[in-house]
Amino acid sequence: MDKRVKNILDALETAYPEARTQLSHENPFQLLVATILSARCTDKQVNEVTPRLFSAYPAPKDLAEADIKDIEEIIRPTGFFHNKAKNIQACAKALAKRHGGKVPRDMESLTALPGVGRKTANVVKSAAFGEQAVVVDTHVARVSRRLGLTSSRDPVKIEQDLMAVLPQNRWSAFSIQTIFHGRNLCTAKKPQCSGCPLLQWCDYGRQHTRG
Ligand code: SF4
Repeated sequence: MDKRVKNILDALETAYPEARTQLSHENPFQLLVATILSARCTDKQVNEVTPRLFSAYPAPKDLAEADIKDIEEIIRPTGFFHNKAKNIQACAKALAKRHGGKVPRDMESLTALPGVGRKTANVVKSAAFGEQAVVVDTHVARVSRRLGLTSSRDPVKIEQDLMAVLPQNRWSAFSIQTIFHGRNLCTAKKPQCSGCPLLQWCDYGRQHTRG
C-alpha cells in the first residue's frame, strides 16, 4: 500500500475509532429501509420515525401489505415522503416476493430492488452483513477528491478508484470514518483544514492553509 494512503487510513482510524452507522436498526431489512429514508435527510430524523414504522410493520410482508397513506403519515418528517413511501413499499414487496422476506447479500440482487442504488447496497453489505464495501455518499466523494484519492465526480468511478487504491480490509472502515470526517471537519463549505489530522497528506488542505 502507498505510504501516503496508509498514513491517511491510520489517521482516520485514530480520529474515528468507534465510527459506525448512526442509523438505528436491528436487522438488514431495517437498515435497508432506514438507508432509503436517509436520502436528503439526517440520520437523527430517520431514527425518530423508524421505531414506529418497524413496530407497525416488522417484516417486509407487513410493509408490502400496508396502506401507503399510513406509511406516508409515519415517514412524513423525513421529507420526500410520497416517493420514499412508494420506494420502501415496492422494495418490501420485492423482498417478500423474490427473496422470501430476506435481504439478499449480493450487489446484483440488492440493486435490482426498487429504490436501491449502489450506495444503499454497499451500506447494507458493510453495516448489516459485515462485508467490506466502499460506500460513496456526498461526504466520501468530496473528501476523497480533496485527498487526491480520486478525481472523478461519478460515484461509480469514485467507488472503483477507491477500491483500487485502498486495501480491501479497510474499505468499510474508510467509508464510515470518511463520512464522519466530512460531517465534522472536511465540510463542503468550510473545511477546517488547520485542525485536520490529515492535513500533512492533503494537497487541497495545504493549499488552503498557506499564508
Ligand atoms: Fe479536508 Fe482540509 Fe482535512 Fe484535507 S486538510 S481532509 S481538505 S479538512
